[in-house]
Amino acid sequence: FLSRFLKWLALKVEEKNVIVATNVRVDEILFRDGVAYGVRIGEDKLEAEYIVIAEGANTLLLEKHGLRAKTSPRDIAVGIKEVIRLGREKINERFSLRDEEGLAQFLISPVFGGGFIYTMKEYVSIGVIYKPLFNNQVEARDVIEELRIHPYISKLLRDGIPIEYSAHIIRESGYRDLMHKPYGRSYIVVGDAAGLILNTGFTVRGVDLAIESGRLAAEAIEKTPPGEEPTLYMKLLQENGITTTLKKFRKVSTILSDQRIYREYPEIICQIFEKIYTVDEFPETLNESLKKVVGGKTSIIKLIFQLLNMVRGL
Ligand SMILES: Cc1cc2nc3c(=O)[nH]c(=O)nc-3n(C[C@H](O)[C@H](O)[C@H](O)COP(=O)(O)OP(=O)(O)OC[C@H]3O[C@@H](n4cnc5c(N)ncnc54)[C@H](O)[C@@H]3O)c2cc1C
Repeated sequence: FLSRFLKWLALKVEEKNVIVATNVRVDEILFRDGVAYGVRIGEDKLEAEYIVIAEGANTLLLEKHGLRAKTSPRDIAVGIKEVIRLGREKINERFSLRDEEGLAQFLISPVFGGGFIYTMKEYVSIGVIYKPLFNNQVEARDVIEELRIHPYISKLLRDGIPIEYSAHIIRESGYRDLMHKPYGRSYIVVGDAAGLILNTGFTVRGVDLAIESGRLAAEAIEKTPPGEEPTLYMKLLQENGITTTLKKFRKVSTILSDQRIYREYPEIICQIFEKIYTVDEFPETLNESLKKVVGGKTSIIKLIFQLLNMVRGL
């Protein structure tokens, strides 16, 4: 849907006599006395009154010009997604859906961290948000394979035809990673490149922030007198609730970096359920099972505190 929307948007801007150039790599931003005045593309130079930097999460240009600190591996995750054609009938049958219904599920694994599966009418999407820093034993290309061959997932996707594969860096550090000054003389930074991506712990949102920051950048540029820095941009980001929302979720990245979420806690939950649903000669109460399972790893009080802290941060 996004690619269709972007094509429509490109047509709209072309109607306003804007030239949209795709498959062209900007190698350098041109500065004269600290003022951005254009870009270099190979041998060619393109000059403009303002440069809007929207290079996405992989901020090579900004880093090259010293406008952003070098990205640390701890700030980065890799999102890998596959779209599989399965057909509406099989999707409805396997996911217990009726027409016009869909399913989205959040997944957790010690191998890849967080993941997801969701249905569309004819297709199913599966994906993982994989943190190379914590999983350096596993190659990125094998991570999605792990998910696809998992017994729970593989039976849902049987006979499906993969039609799309994509991998994309995600900046995960949220508010901490937000550029303090996403502008300078005659340039402005929008979208992921500026750190405008919101990970709530359950959803990743960046498309809306990219679009809205682009709109606010245009407003700031329009209202800034020539030669001055567009300081209004930061004010607009604040007034429109973007930076305040990012601040509200500032603890999420630390919480999601806690490896216990992907290994220890799911293990505890599975073991407790195994115990309470096992038909035994001397069945255990929930409390007894909890003590036995948790006792080996941490104390119950400590666990409750850890979980409370996590819930408060999310
Ligand atoms: C697995 C996954 C799931 C996601 N799910 C959601 C979701 O459900 N909802 C949501 O809102 N967001 C989601 N996001 C986040 C969303 O994709 C991004 O936040 C959004 O695309 C950011 O837009 P952007 O324009 O800033 O950057 P991008 O969409 O990354 O666009 C940057 C563009 O700049 C180009 N570029 C980079 N460098 C140069 C250069 N030097 N010269 C020329 N071009 C260059 C790139 O090729 C790219 O086309 C998800 C991300 C991932 C990885």
